[in-house]
Amino acid sequence: MKKIPIAKPYIDKDDISGVVGVLKSGWLSLGPKYKEFEKDFAKYVGVDYACAVSNGTAALHLGVKALGLKAGDEVITSPFSFVASSNVLMYERVKPVFVDIEETTFNIDPSKIEKAITKKTKAVLPVHIFGQSAEMDYIMKIAKKHNLKILEDACESLGAAYKDKMVGTTGDIGTYAFYPNKQMTTGEGGMIVTNKKDLYDLCDSFRNQGRSKNGDWLVHERLGYNYRMDEMSASLGITQLKKIDWMIEEKRKIAAWYNRVLGDINGVETPAVREDRTHSWFVYVVRIKNGKKNRLMRGLSRAGFQTKPYLPVIHLQSFMRQIFGFKEGDFPVAESVSEETLALPLYIGLTEKDVEYIVDKIKDILNG
Ligand SMILES: *Cc1c(COP(=O)(O)O)cnc(C)c1O
Repeated sequence: MKKIPIAKPYIDKDDISGVVGVLKSGWLSLGPKYKEFEKDFAKYVGVDYACAVSNGTAALHLGVKALGLKAGDEVITSPFSFVASSNVLMYERVKPVFVDIEETTFNIDPSKIEKAITKKTKAVLPVHIFGQSAEMDYIMKIAKKHNLKILEDACESLGAAYKDKMVGTTGDIGTYAFYPNKQMTTGEGGMIVTNKKDLYDLCDSFRNQGRSKNGDWLVHERLGYNYRMDEMSASLGITQLKKIDWMIEEKRKIAAWYNRVLGDINGVETPAVREDRTHSWFVYVVRIKNGKKNRLMRGLSRAGFQTKPYLPVIHLQSFMRQIFGFKEGDFPVAESVSEETLALPLYIGLTEKDVEYIVDKIKDILNG
């Protein structure tokens, strides 16, 4: 039986020789590679500054710190996300204020944001979910009107465009992640981008134990962290970024195969992509109607295909219920989407035949 995982990273000879080269150089941290990766990355997404860190969660956390968000502040964000996007607020005792999502893109519903604004609201944290941008023009307009900061979670959407602008580059700060299932990987890794020098300088200091730029190694001017990216990871970042457009295109082909063969199955909804943006596929997520998702997951698993119920809503995780008292029905769109969404295998190397094979199995299970 052929086993098909949900995701796997694409690693080639250049990636391997680059990392081996770093190991042979003996310079494993704070060397030339992370600076080079930052320069390449800033150029790719089109920003002035990029700051490499140890993972996407660290990137978001430093975004929260650099924007000066603090205990008692409120930040508006999406409950349909990976848990890290609201956890980073809670690290600083900032309250995540959830707003329900759109049925089509699964991103935060901008028409519901203004109602959630209070005197304590300091920022909006849009999450660009599954590889497609949130409605940034609308969100920026609200932010301007109410004097709110924007921290973008683009951890799932590197390379996606919104009206010709790269996702993650519209707000005050954008963040990306390079975990092995993302568009590109550094093993663990993350990136913060901004066009504001003062925000970059703060992130640069925070990630390196609160040191100042030109100060002594043992002089610390603020409470900082060790969120540095090592040189092996940075080398992987450099070589992965060189082929990012190709990798995104390969996944786009696979998504198109799925769209084609899934299109005529009753009870399966394929992902919607808005006309004014491009999708950079992180996961390929379908909606399974008529309460058949769990049966389908079990059947596919027995057939050797890994799937995942992307995503459970954040507000109904047990610790969130305990802390904030959230309950079923608080964000009905997110909850109903979450009950029906399922991620299918998507990685470079998956063939058109594999996709047809998976979809045949889906048909069998749903009809049988
Ligand atoms: C992956 C991800 C993160 C965090 O990235 P890590 O590198 O795993 O810390 C944050 N937000 C979203 C939406 C993600 O998918």
